[in-house]
Amino acid sequence: MSVAPAAYADVVARIARAAQAAGRDPAAVTLVAVSKQQPWEAIQPVLDAGQRVFGENRVQEAMGRWAERRAGLELRLIGPLQTNKAREAVAFFDAIESVDREKLARVLADEIQKQGRSPRLYVQVNTGEEDQKAGVIPPEADAFIVACRDTYGLTVEGLMCIPPEAEPPGPHFALLARIAARNGVAKLSMGMSGDFETAVRFGATSVRVGSAVFGARSR
Ligand SMILES: *Cc1c(COP(=O)(O)O)cnc(C)c1O
Repeated sequence: MSVAPAAYADVVARIARAAQAAGRDPAAVTLVAVSKQQPWEAIQPVLDAGQRVFGENRVQEAMGRWAERRAGLELRLIGPLQTNKAREAVAFFDAIESVDREKLARVLADEIQKQGRSPRLYVQVNTGEEDQKAGVIPPEADAFIVACRDTYGLTVEGLMCIPPEAEPPGPHFALLARIAARNGVAKLSMGMSGDFETAVRFGATSVRVGSAVFGARSR
């Protein structure tokens, strides 16, 4: 039962259409297929269909799923990172999209130095200033980006956000794009299954899509 490739092809096509409608090059938007909590039977057909960029929100789960088939893939950590997992995360991921506090920035900088390996880094911004959500709040974003660069010597490739579920996402995507522009940050990771076309319209350079590609998660 491989429903996934049709759903996958549909998401790829919708991203391309949204980019074209916004006057953007579809190749400028990367699909990050979010494979967290998905059974391998759902992932395999998407891998076979040519998808090479995957997102995971837990270090241990990601390593369990991908360590043996790591070659040729780009793996992104999109979930919160505890400092005691930073060593493994730096060793394993190609990008870490959840940099959101100074302590983590410091530990990542130490590990990057020690390992001589540097995942691309995104600062997560809690655009809705929600208590339960990770990310630096918008009023503190500029100072945090400066600290990442100047205090810890990190290169900030992009910004990431997850808008509040109950609000229209557009204003949150626009806010993230403004924070990126005024700080000279090039990439925007925004948009999930329910709103990736809107995110593309607001300038997303990558969209993180799970259930629309693989089906509903098992837990
Ligand atoms: C789970 C997750 C996604 C994907 O969510 P879907 O709604 O299944 O597309 C995207 N981003 C983050 C940070 C996630 O944790």
